[in-house]
Amino acid sequence: MDFSFTKEQESLRQEVRDFLEAKVRDGEFQVKSNGWVESHSQKFSKDMSSRGWIGMTWPKEYGGHERSYIDRAIVMEEMLTYQAPIGFHFLADRQVGPAIIHFGNDEQKKTYLPKIINADISIAIGLSEPNAGSDLVSVKTTAIEQGDFYIINGQKVWTTGGHRADYIWCLVRTDLNAPKHKALSEFIVDVKTPGITIRPIINMAGIHSFNEIFFEDVKVPKENLVGPKNRGFYQLMAQVDYERAGLERLMQNYPLFKNLVEYVKNEKRNGKALSKDPFIRNKLAELEVEYQIGRLFCYHVAWTLSQGRIPNYEAALCKAFCTQFEQRLSDAATSVLGLYGQLMPGSEYAPMDGDAADSYLWSVSYTIQGGTLEVLKNIVATRGLGLPVAKS
Ligand SMILES: Cc1cc2nc3c(=O)[nH]c(=O)nc-3n(C[C@H](O)[C@H](O)[C@H](O)COP(=O)(O)OP(=O)(O)OC[C@H]3O[C@@H](n4cnc5c(N)ncnc54)[C@H](O)[C@@H]3O)c2cc1C
Repeated sequence: MDFSFTKEQESLRQEVRDFLEAKVRDGEFQVKSNGWVESHSQKFSKDMSSRGWIGMTWPKEYGGHERSYIDRAIVMEEMLTYQAPIGFHFLADRQVGPAIIHFGNDEQKKTYLPKIINADISIAIGLSEPNAGSDLVSVKTTAIEQGDFYIINGQKVWTTGGHRADYIWCLVRTDLNAPKHKALSEFIVDVKTPGITIRPIINMAGIHSFNEIFFEDVKVPKENLVGPKNRGFYQLMAQVDYERAGLERLMQNYPLFKNLVEYVKNEKRNGKALSKDPFIRNKLAELEVEYQIGRLFCYHVAWTLSQGRIPNYEAALCKAFCTQFEQRLSDAATSVLGLYGQLMPGSEYAPMDGDAADSYLWSVSYTIQGGTLEVLKNIVATRGLGLPVAKS
């Protein structure tokens, strides 16, 4: 592994930074923790697309740019530093596109990949159900063949961005009798299909980010099945590694980190500079050490992908470490700010416009979304260390 960036990579980083600085100056978005999840702008995504920053690693044949995973990580790192509004294209760029490249037929590649790259469509991920989150083989939503269609019935939950998406990538049961692992399939479903109802779920921080989605006799054309029927579980195993591999697991509240360091440099408490408090100095230095380790983990995952390997335990290890760092950051910020750390955005007394309290509420979900910490540790134990699978 080469630890330095090439001249071309450094100039790509500068290009992205200049692009983002101009957008912030023009008031197109504000730099705020969790901003990339909360904000969503097709215009912004189209501007990124015109610079070649969506589908960066995908085949040229379908409009991709065949660049390296390190280049993609550089673009992502800058987007997250500024918390740019990348929500419109992010899930499709991160995991739906790669899934279509791996498992879709040529027609599906020609239909969906250029639209994702051009930011013409937004796609949400419909895996989780009320009784199937970590244990996805238990999904109960069914898709039953009927002539040229499948008829979908059931419910999805926690679908991030489902209320703004054009399509939902759905994991469903296509065989009611086969063993669980051999009975699932993946579909791309147009949200405008009759029979789909989307209801908001408001998170603890008061934000509408995810949804529950109900399917009642939803008629989906057969050509929307991605990959062979009943192979969905095996396809999914490769896709979740893309979901766990990115810098977004380290940098969701990055602006809080930067602003906290500046705040401490400029504030006094009881006549004493906060920057001289040994507890605070120690905490911030510890966080910086962890941040730099997390960054190396993320680039290691990007490097693994660039070697043509799908990172598995590496991605699990990376997400487990990075999301815990993020929780410790939110925790440290609220304790450094004392009682002011509990004030939410909008309060005139809240330092950093309430970013500490807001991130603290968001941070509970960091170790749940995309695979819980316990599940990731199981992967590291079994696939990383070769320990036997624990049976309860
Ligand atoms: C912010 C956020 C966004 C999300 N976005 C999406 C989305 O867009 N699309 C989507 O489909 N889903 C989404 N999810 C759902 C997410 O993937 C699930 O919440 C997650 O996989 C955990 O599943 P669960 O909530 O059913 O918990 P469960 O699986 O019921 O787990 C409950 C507890 O049991 C533990 N546990 C479970 N199994 C094991 C085991 N084998 N060993 C040890 N401990 C175990 C878990 O670690 C956890 O602590 C999102 C969740 C969050 C919080």
